[in-house]
Amino acid sequence: MNMGLIHDALDEAGIDRAQISDVAITHNHEDHVSGLIAPDGSQAFTEVERVWIGAGDTSVFTGRLKPIHDRVVPVSEKVAINDWSTAIPTPGHTPGHTVYEVRSSAGRLLAWGDTVHVPTLQLDRPNVSWELDGNQSQARAARAALLEQLTQPHHFVAGAHLDSPGIARVTPSGDGYALEYLAPPIG
Ligand SMILES: [Zn+2]
Repeated sequence: MNMGLIHDALDEAGIDRAQISDVAITHNHEDHVSGLIAPDGSQAFTEVERVWIGAGDTSVFTGRLKPIHDRVVPVSEKVAINDWSTAIPTPGHTPGHTVYEVRSSAGRLLAWGDTVHVPTLQLDRPNVSWELDGNQSQARAARAALLEQLTQPHHFVAGAHLDSPGIARVTPSGDGYALEYLAPPIG
């Protein structure tokens, strides 16, 4: 598993980490919170004012993440982060699993965390759950609802465990769904 790529990705996009005021965390699993720490052990987002995370997942802010604890904003209901993004609780994978919708003139992008973990299997068969889904029936229901919502026009998904480039459209396919990945940017 590769971890820590968010810092390289921000550099590549020309985004200065010191300019970031809000970080939105989908859930408390190690591969989704470790980017808060730089490879040298320092805080990766030195000027962050708010770290959004589901209320059920806040216990992760101990140990090396403890310095961030006073900036945590627990999400317990659908809430606007700003004019263009919204936090939406989707418990199941973890008690505090939360997805984030970002809107622009191009459409709506849903950062869905671990709603789908194995796309080659779970798009065809959304009912398939697995041991890392803490509450499998809740995770299944959340996955079904989000997949159906994402078939609407101008909706896109960004997922931590999707294939490269990690952003796709969801289309109906047979009894399930398929992903149409967006081409990576050129240049
Ligand atoms: Zn996870």
